[in-house]
Amino acid sequence: MNSYDAIIIGAGHNGLVTAGYLAKAGRRVLVLERRGLVGGAATTEEIFSGFRVSSVADGSGYLSADVRRDLKLDSHVERIDSEVVAFSPQPDGSHLTIYRDTAKTIQEIARFSKADAESYPKFVELMQALAGLVAALGHVTPMALPEVTFGDLRGAVGLLGPGRKLGRKRIPELLRVLPMPAADILNEYFESPAVKGAIGANSSMGVSFGPQESGTAYTMLLSWGLSGNGLFRSAGVIKGGMGALCDAIASAATGFGAEIRTDAPVASITVEDGRAIGVKLESGVELTANTIVSNADPRTTFNRLLDPRTLGKKILQHVANIKFKGSGLRIHLALSGLPQFTSLAGAGADGVAPVQLGAPIQIAPSLDYIERAYDHSKYGRFSDSPFLDVLIPSVLDPSAAPAGQHLMSITAKYAPYELADGDWETQKEVFADIVVNTLAEYAPNLRELIEQRHVLSVPDLESIYGLPEGNPNHGEMILNQFFHMRPIPGNARYRAQIEGLYLCGAGCHPGGGVSGVPGHNAAREILKDSKK
Ligand SMILES: Cc1cc2nc3c(=O)[nH]c(=O)nc-3n(C[C@H](O)[C@H](O)[C@H](O)COP(=O)(O)OP(=O)(O)OC[C@H]3O[C@@H](n4cnc5c(N)ncnc54)[C@H](O)[C@@H]3O)c2cc1C
Repeated sequence: MNSYDAIIIGAGHNGLVTAGYLAKAGRRVLVLERRGLVGGAATTEEIFSGFRVSSVADGSGYLSADVRRDLKLDSHVERIDSEVVAFSPQPDGSHLTIYRDTAKTIQEIARFSKADAESYPKFVELMQALAGLVAALGHVTPMALPEVTFGDLRGAVGLLGPGRKLGRKRIPELLRVLPMPAADILNEYFESPAVKGAIGANSSMGVSFGPQESGTAYTMLLSWGLSGNGLFRSAGVIKGGMGALCDAIASAATGFGAEIRTDAPVASITVEDGRAIGVKLESGVELTANTIVSNADPRTTFNRLLDPRTLGKKILQHVANIKFKGSGLRIHLALSGLPQFTSLAGAGADGVAPVQLGAPIQIAPSLDYIERAYDHSKYGRFSDSPFLDVLIPSVLDPSAAPAGQHLMSITAKYAPYELADGDWETQKEVFADIVVNTLAEYAPNLRELIEQRHVLSVPDLESIYGLPEGNPNHGEMILNQFFHMRPIPGNARYRAQIEGLYLCGAGCHPGGGVSGVPGHNAAREILKDSKK
């Protein structure tokens, strides 16, 4: 049968989450994915024989507790947490380790600054309070400003708890901090470059700009709120990689009756009399449904899948204004053993990994270092001293690599979409050499351990994974692309301009990261509309 209650275009984790909720509510759901596997930017692929590589995203701690509970994911997915949240080796051979345990972190920070060690718990307390409200806001459907309905206010009830916790006095503090550069708020609390670099790195992780940019305090708070561990980032891995998580979401959806077809790229959304009524596949097959949901990014949805004549000039202008901008290369290394970091006195030589190597390794020794790495990208170049976020997933999950071997996955930040000189096809290996050499300054045996290397350039992220301009979040996570303006003003309530058409991906509020929140919120709105 070719007709469904809902067709979802894309089996990224958000599309799968929406499918799960709709199928659970008894809807006949079909998911169509262009690639040969589900997960979108959250997949496990055997890039090297015998290795299970989280090819794009590898940090899994953002996934919403509601989604985990409602789709019963915890009994099918094994998450292995790291007791270290960030390991930040320094150029002078020292290191800073941020633990989950505040008391341990305070001891670490005291080696860099006694004053910072005193400030740390106060900073964590403030950020956690502010982040609680930011995270709760993520679950609210943005209001269609300026028209706020009674339903909107009812939907915002979820903010009352975190709002009360924050207290009236701190609301002005939240409004002050949100648009600030992360660097400014960090400078208020800390003096040590190492401490500020380690904490502030996360403000720039998913965006294309540096921590001196306005609004990076918001990106830091969002990550703080989503990480669910009371700290600025999550740390840990999913056993089997991110694909195992998406496979579990897919199983939950099919368990509720959804059908998923891979290798099924959608060519267009069929609109009749102003209403979305179906899709046409690239194979020529046509399918119909009462509701069409796009997990593709807003540029693809509005510009490619829809006939622009079905949209007004204003919408097309808003879509053209969405800032994407790629921001990172992804480099995977198959290693014959464990890298030994100078600052850990070579620990790991016996094959036993120190706790730091199970955590994200941040090459971000100061805010200035991060900002300088960003500077180059403004002019179409990459830095000779790049800001790196590195994970060795095989330390926590030995199944990521064959016995005795290790997998290292690196996000090398500030890679511009368009290069001033040359093209990414040749330059990606040049940048990857710089990245390896940079890491080797901290872990000198790295080079000799590398058996295979796989580099995904910004255009590769676009062409293989469908991320426009290689942007991780279907659109920059900046304040003018936030809440009622995400993906575009007037279309921020998961409903596209066309009746029967919805959006459920990272381009929607609250944005990217493997949180499942856009997918969850979209399903809620779709179900609400279908009850009317
Ligand atoms: C380098 C990098 C590192 C990252 N690291 C992390 C991290 O560590 N932790 C984290 O939480 N987040 C991370 N992210 C961000 C995160 O991966 C994304 O924000 C998130 O996966 C987006 O999920 P989604 O379901 O909304 O979209 P996607 O995962 O992009 O899924 C969209 C799906 O739609 C499909 N599709 C598109 N068009 C069509 C069509 N016409 N027909 C059929 N199917 C179609 C695509 O193939 C894709 O499967 C990272 C991103 C990048 C680029």
